[in-house]
Amino acid sequence: MGAAMGYETDLKLFIDGAWKSGEGRDTHRLVNPVTAEGIADVPYASAADLEEALEASKRAWPGWRDLEVEKRSAILHKTAALLRERADHIAQTLTQEQGKILAEAKAEVIGSAQLFDWYAEEIKRDYGRTLVRPAGQLSRVIRQPVGPTATFTPWNFPIYLLAKKVSAALAAGCPVISRPPHETPGCTTEMFRALADAGIPNGVAQLVHGESGLVSTTLIASPVIRKVSFTGSTGVGKHLMKLCADSMTRVTMELGGHAPVLIFDDCDLEKTLDMVVPQKFRNAGQVCVSPTRFYVQSGIYDSFVKGFAERTQKVKVGNGLEADTKMGPLANARRPEAIEKLVEDARAKGARVLAGGSRGNQGFFFQPTLLADVPNEAEIMNEEPFGPVAVTRPFDSFDEVIEQANRLPYGLAAFAFTENGRRANLIGDLVESGMVGINTFAISVADAPFGGVKDSGFGSEGGKEGLESYQVVKAIHQA
Ligand code: NAD
Repeated sequence: MGAAMGYETDLKLFIDGAWKSGEGRDTHRLVNPVTAEGIADVPYASAADLEEALEASKRAWPGWRDLEVEKRSAILHKTAALLRERADHIAQTLTQEQGKILAEAKAEVIGSAQLFDWYAEEIKRDYGRTLVRPAGQLSRVIRQPVGPTATFTPWNFPIYLLAKKVSAALAAGCPVISRPPHETPGCTTEMFRALADAGIPNGVAQLVHGESGLVSTTLIASPVIRKVSFTGSTGVGKHLMKLCADSMTRVTMELGGHAPVLIFDDCDLEKTLDMVVPQKFRNAGQVCVSPTRFYVQSGIYDSFVKGFAERTQKVKVGNGLEADTKMGPLANARRPEAIEKLVEDARAKGARVLAGGSRGNQGFFFQPTLLADVPNEAEIMNEEPFGPVAVTRPFDSFDEVIEQANRLPYGLAAFAFTENGRRANLIGDLVESGMVGINTFAISVADAPFGGVKDSGFGSEGGKEGLESYQVVKAIHQA
């Protein structure tokens, strides 16, 4: 695949089973993060488009809710098959829009297909329960679809995070109206193309590109929408929760993180470094569970940062479409600007820059960066960097490092590297986060719940908990 490959995705809205173009609508210019140049125009939904989508969702709900589960499931399986069949094209579109390397983009599409397959099966095992009652009486507890759902998803994993919401909501029997981020309209349009080609009934899955304020206020204020699922920054999450309060709309909030990584002196140092460095720079660090604050036990601190710096300097940065690139540009102009400020602030407060530290010459690039001896007062120790920067500092005792790990308002993911089993158990119990990875980073999988605590939000995606987030509980008593 050559880097000169053109952008070949037809950007459209998908409302009530019809594809709608930019004609007569406002459009937004899509930018390639490698060059910062425009590559296509995205049609934006008007207020009338949003009303049409809401009406279609309302009409479609009873039919979708009451459809035989085997038929619902078959459409989800077919969607998964189409995503796999089209993975090369979708991945290429994703790389051109967002910047991540092609291999990561392809893995994201395949992971999204797995979610559709998983929920297509999980819904068949949604049994409810029967309570113990005297002969002749019956009390049962059932779960029913909550109803039409609005999803708002970010640009860092534009297909996977959208698939997490859409696959579970559709499996549960809820129609969805999805607003994807404006940075990644094409790969998300392709996901809806797969749903359309798999035979999703009109109005059950709708895609509305658009201005985020207009789309979120219109959808959330409507009595048609019974559930909002958002992934993104804590600030926007809090804003959407306030909008949802007025309409008593249920929410799932998957927000930012600032993952601590606890490196103990009994870990296998070389193996640990070989794992953590590529993980840090995956998707240029724009990952809500990205390993960020590395707390390293004093005895191995110097060798750890030396090995980290050597590996960081070797990360090949470039256009994600080129086969030997290991890290692409950041997704938009805001990211390198924000990272530059955070690095400068840390440097001014005494941090040592052991690798990288500056922006690239074109597009939205920032060098893979390692900071050592970063004080807690540095902004980057408190604010989610969402970029290719690792921060390190030494620690001495177990209690001290647990206190450091828990000191921020975030609580999404935490990681630890140790060969001591008792210590590993304690870390699992004591760290305040929704997910803990011990000697692994594999924490986002179809069959396990994923979500945060504290300012990282609430509610889970993935696993049976992900399905339940699109359901309401009802108790039916019969004497
Ligand atoms: P941002 O806060 O402007 O936007 C975050 C996301 O929210 C974007 O996808 C955006 O399209 C969406 N959004 C913004 N306003 C909205 C509204 N009124 N209604 C609905 N959606 C809205 O931040 P950004 O500059 O795009 O990204 C940087 C920050 O976002 C990072 O520091 C990180 O904390 C956070 N982020 C988190 C995740 C995650 O997976 N948890 C993903 C992307 C971004």
